[in-house]
Amino acid sequence: MKKIILISAMIAVVLTACNKVPISGRNQLNLVSDSEVLQSSLASYKEYMSKATKSTQTVKSEQVTRVGRKIAAATEAYLNANGMSDQTKNFAWEFNLVKDSQLNAFCMPGGKIVVYEGIMNIISSDDELAVVLGHEVAHAVAKHSNERLSNQKALQYGGAILGAITQNASQSTQSLANTVFGLGANYGVMLPFSRKHETEADNIGLVLMTMAGYNPDCALSFWQKMSVYGSNTKAEFMSTHPSDATRIANLQKQLPQVKEKYKSYLKVKY
Ligand SMILES: [Zn+2]
Repeated sequence: MKKIILISAMIAVVLTACNKVPISGRNQLNLVSDSEVLQSSLASYKEYMSKATKSTQTVKSEQVTRVGRKIAAATEAYLNANGMSDQTKNFAWEFNLVKDSQLNAFCMPGGKIVVYEGIMNIISSDDELAVVLGHEVAHAVAKHSNERLSNQKALQYGGAILGAITQNASQSTQSLANTVFGLGANYGVMLPFSRKHETEADNIGLVLMTMAGYNPDCALSFWQKMSVYGSNTKAEFMSTHPSDATRIANLQKQLPQVKEKYKSYLKVKY
């Protein structure tokens, strides 16, 4: 009997500790609050930015900000219209271009997005840049970092004290976050996202760039270029999972559905 009560309590905790990912509709485990995640990740982000060299390429920096803000605005308009404005209420979007020759970009929780100069060398239009930024905004909006911390917490503590975790365990969140957000030796170097999160960010990113009025077909040309130029990079954006071929095949499959379902957004200007 006691066992049944315990299992029921655990199920109840897991059910209440769920969050629905916008657009994909997937349920994710959510055992950490935004404020806990942001407290840890913002320190790491600020440290990274204080050491990074901001790009002096004014035109490209402005391009990153312009396209990024457009995608963020389209994303928030969609969330507001669908009763999900809570999802980004603690966000303060920032789009930075940083002097670094790697073909990379990354996102920290709360809408902090960094693009490296290297990746801009193979980008030939706002539409292609929107592929990169749509993908990174998608990681942020889908709260992949919160989910990753939640999963680690659940693994670390097991089900038995799941209830206690949700009540007060900010210290353990801090230590897990230090690992996930690279606090310590490697500022700004986050653990790579899982294959599941990468594919979801690709799919949601495709929708977000479409909603912002960019041409989603460019996702294919962009990833084809990445497969030529970036095959030896191990950074977040070029993580080996999924492979370029899997990624392109997935996007090819998604494209007709996205273009049909969200065609009305193509006329909206933000
Ligand atoms: Zn990613």
